[in-house]
Amino acid sequence: MSDLGALRRELTEFSQRSFNRHLVSGTGGNLSLRVPGTDTVLITPSGFSLGDIEPEMIILVNLDGEILDSPMNFKGSKETGFHLEAYRNRQGCAAVAHVHPPYATAYSCLGKDLPLVTISARAGLNRVPCVECFMPGSTELCSAVSGGITDYPESNALLMKEHGILTMAESMSLAYYVADLVEDSAKIAFLAANIHTDT
Ligand SMILES: [Zn+2]
Repeated sequence: MSDLGALRRELTEFSQRSFNRHLVSGTGGNLSLRVPGTDTVLITPSGFSLGDIEPEMIILVNLDGEILDSPMNFKGSKETGFHLEAYRNRQGCAAVAHVHPPYATAYSCLGKDLPLVTISARAGLNRVPCVECFMPGSTELCSAVSGGITDYPESNALLMKEHGILTMAESMSLAYYVADLVEDSAKIAFLAANIHTDT
């Protein structure tokens, strides 16, 4: 039997870290984790900054998106759908981070793979493909992300065109570190592309 209280605290910690690390701004982004050994998921609520999340704000849903427990009666994130696609379609996925970090999101506007210019980016990320742009919360966006999850099994991170990124991992800390690496890799790619050596 999992300790839901400990899992809620873990999700809270990484929500706040994501906000403080500037991986997301305003009320954007959402984090989730699977309750080990079950078909249930804890996810951050709709309409709140990840910087303001507290454990009792977090919602328990099943893999069909039905709310099983919401201590403060909050609604689930409108982007719950593609989180659940990750748990349904990615073997071993135990946590998902969806954030809007500025450099990676800027690269997403090109609609292409994120350029991985460092050895650590290539080793840690392998490939970061881009999925098509649709309205946040729409079934079309959910389908596009789901397609990316199944079409690129070698990738644990996706760019979402003109929107942000999605990362999937075996733990909440790893999903957060992958998101952090994606943003840092995008920042380095941008800096490398803008350094002029012809002095
Ligand atoms: Zn979003």
